[in-house]
Amino acid sequence: MHIYLPEIKSKTGEFVEYQFDINLGEYFDDFSDSGNLKLMVSASYSGEEVIIRGNIEASITAVCSRCLEPFSQDLKTDFTEVFTVIKDLTAEDNPEYLAEKVANMLTISGDFFYLDEYVRQLLVLTQEYSPLCKPGCKGICSGCGADLNRSSCSCPDDNDENIDIRLLKLKELISGN
Ligand SMILES: [Zn+2]
Ligand SMILES: [Zn+2]
Repeated sequence: MHIYLPEIKSKTGEFVEYQFDINLGEYFDDFSDSGNLKLMVSASYSGEEVIIRGNIEASITAVCSRCLEPFSQDLKTDFTEVFTVIKDLTAEDNPEYLAEKVANMLTISGDFFYLDEYVRQLLVLTQEYSPLCKPGCKGICSGCGADLNRSSCSCPDDNDENIDIRLLKLKELISGN
């Protein structure tokens, strides 16, 4: 996924639209089992900066935070970002200053503006911290490890209660009753 800078430079100040349809697994190691991604992006060159805005729609494989089963999850997000175009550097530029500048900014150099890493980070940020395969997923029994969506188990309903009872007994011992 890239934008050819001479193309948007030839239309300075205008937004040029691009669309990419990719298979996520072919692009990103960390989304290897995932589906497709659609990226719509408009890019505009101002002389020193490239502004991009658009949205992504992706189908990724997530792992349920309760039952640990993989499931397909749809992600959608809008974005707007400004990248600084780094021109040819002169000998007068202090290397330390330049290193800091590059580290603190989204930068582009050369004729091709690659969007891959930006899109990858956007996907990572858009993912839910604790995804659920379905609302109300029952998860895995903390006592015997059974997948409670598929079967029930014979563990007591609430393991917390067991702990409470043990703690109560401990309390009795400590207080000498
Ligand atoms: Zn689940
Ligand atoms: Zn159980």
